[in-house]
Amino acid sequence: MANRVHSAVAANVLCKREVFNLKEKLTELFWETYNYRDGVSVYFAPGRVNLIGEHTDYNGGHVFPCALTIGTYAAVKCRDDNKIRLYSGNFPEKGVCEIEVGDYSYIKQPDWCNYPVGVIWALYKKGYVLDRGIDIMYYGDIPSGSGLSSSASIEVLTAYFLNDVFGFGIELTDIALLCQYSENNFNGSNCGIMDQFASANGKAGNAIFLDTATLTYEYAPVRLDGQSLLIINSNKKHSIVSSHYNDRRREAETALSQLQREIDIQSLGELSESEFEKYKYCIEDDLLLRRARHAVYENQRTIKAKKALNENDIKLFGELMVDSHVSLRDDYEVSCRELDVIVEEALKLDGVWGIRMTGGGFGGCCVGIFDTDKIEDIKNKIDRVYKDRCGIKADFYDVSIGEGPHRL
Ligand code: ADP
Ligand code: MG
Repeated sequence: MANRVHSAVAANVLCKREVFNLKEKLTELFWETYNYRDGVSVYFAPGRVNLIGEHTDYNGGHVFPCALTIGTYAAVKCRDDNKIRLYSGNFPEKGVCEIEVGDYSYIKQPDWCNYPVGVIWALYKKGYVLDRGIDIMYYGDIPSGSGLSSSASIEVLTAYFLNDVFGFGIELTDIALLCQYSENNFNGSNCGIMDQFASANGKAGNAIFLDTATLTYEYAPVRLDGQSLLIINSNKKHSIVSSHYNDRRREAETALSQLQREIDIQSLGELSESEFEKYKYCIEDDLLLRRARHAVYENQRTIKAKKALNENDIKLFGELMVDSHVSLRDDYEVSCRELDVIVEEALKLDGVWGIRMTGGGFGGCCVGIFDTDKIEDIKNKIDRVYKDRCGIKADFYDVSIGEGPHRL
């Protein structure tokens, strides 16, 4: 019964977000969980989509993500004792998890708690100690498993509200680094910095052009005129993504070390296309050569895409997105049939400026730029043909570029 009530309230939060006061709704969920509501604060941190620059972040290249208006919310209130209680409206069946301040060991169940607890652990390791407990109620509206980085969103959110509530004074970029540290070392995922950085430093209407080697970044206004961003979820799930991811990291590192015998570089991201063409003979194996070629060319494409966006050249931006997909498909080999079918079918349609797989690959989502007045027609056509060809139902998310973490 409790679960049903929670799901109903949660659904209401989602459907009526424009109409009802979100803060009220989240406070209501908090009250249903913990039976009090006085003094509760509500926070938000966004998910992200990467427009271009895929698998470049651990190769010392650029990425070009933007924060979304969908993300994760938390209603929180400090306690007088040392208990930390965590609950997620997305996993009502898992109930409330309770730990003590200072006891940050890995939690077997509910496993989702390891994302926020990892952040509390990382804060503790860096000397930011909670001096009392806290009650936390999470709720996220990022579709699960879509690759829009719900994990970074819940991590950044946790670091952000703890920073605010306990007055740690940590800068947003350091919040991103801390969350990446937590996901790497507490959750055992070898992720780069992009997801946490995009969530922490998001800015409405802007993409973030980030140099992952130096963490210098620039905002680039996304001025779409008659076009819209659309995310298409292939709903293709892949169970061994992380092993492929680790393979790619290793392959790119091996290619780099072979190039380093001849040239003095720290990462593939330092190479221009012509430098790569000049020295590619150093790479002994065709597969490794293709991996390195993707890392180098994708980084250069991302630099060109930023310039195109600054010049409001959406046509070029869209073409670079498609080139990115082809390179991810053929050279880096991280796409899959489902993502390829979506891209192939979309490119047959009128009103499509650009489309590519986004995220780690092997499933997940495509992101595209489409004429706003044709978008419903495009969705219907892709929906039909994708179901026919792949036997899976796609989901479509009309997204907007939103703000970074904030208190509501
Ligand atoms: P994504 O691409 O969405 O980041 P991940 O597998 O990296 O996918 O992270 C998803 C995991 O993050 C979920 O399985 C869950 O453990 C955790 N998570 C994300 N959002 C929430 C939420 N609102 N409540 C609880 N756990 C969440
Ligand atoms: Mg994740």
